[in-house]
Amino acid sequence: MPHSFKTEAIVLRSIRYGEADRVLHLYTPDRGRLGAIAKGVRRTKSRLGGRLEPLSRVRLVLHQGRGELCTISQVDTLNAHPSLRERRGSLERATQACEAVLRLFDSTESNPPAYNLLCNELGLLDLSADAAGRSQALAFRLKLLLAAGFAPELAACASCGEAEHLGAYSPSAGGVVCAGCEAGSFPLGEEAHRFLVMALARPLVEAPSAPEQALAQADRAIAETLEYHAHVRLRRVA
Ligand SMILES: [Zn+2]
Repeated sequence: MPHSFKTEAIVLRSIRYGEADRVLHLYTPDRGRLGAIAKGVRRTKSRLGGRLEPLSRVRLVLHQGRGELCTISQVDTLNAHPSLRERRGSLERATQACEAVLRLFDSTESNPPAYNLLCNELGLLDLSADAAGRSQALAFRLKLLLAAGFAPELAACASCGEAEHLGAYSPSAGGVVCAGCEAGSFPLGEEAHRFLVMALARPLVEAPSAPEQALAQADRAIAETLEYHAHVRLRRVA
């Protein structure tokens, strides 16, 4: 039955459609991924158009018709994140964050932690240029892994449970591994291990820092875990 409903959303992507419309990929706290059409928004007189830019956090009234796409009838801006759009580094991080959510969360199942994490990341990127560093981007991605149910095992060997000599990471085992279970793993130094543990434990705004080499190892651990378990390949966090 056709009906209208309200929801909050982050605009992940906006694609031109037909003469004057746009198709939007939205991420919502209560309905997961949602596809919607914004009619006439590419006309200069449209009032909706400017509020539906990617990376914006909005409150929407949508109409669910018979088709797959909802139609947007009302938009209120909650946060357009205007400052991050003016800094190239911040803009790139924000786009990467939306891309990661787009690839990892493609169902209509709600996942409030994933939604809140994305809102938090975009808000922080808007507030300060410092948030665009590599360590926060990695901490975001790691927390996204947790929200998606793929958090790596970091406390003990992911294969045998051994608690010591955890100098390697195995994407297939899904975490750190001991010297006896190293097959298919790569070296993960102490600083990289500590970075992963602290990034998961702390709030995003307090993402730990680490030397470049440790961040590179953490990046690889996160990326290969995603590839192996979620079958999603994301660009590395340079
Ligand atoms: Zn082991």
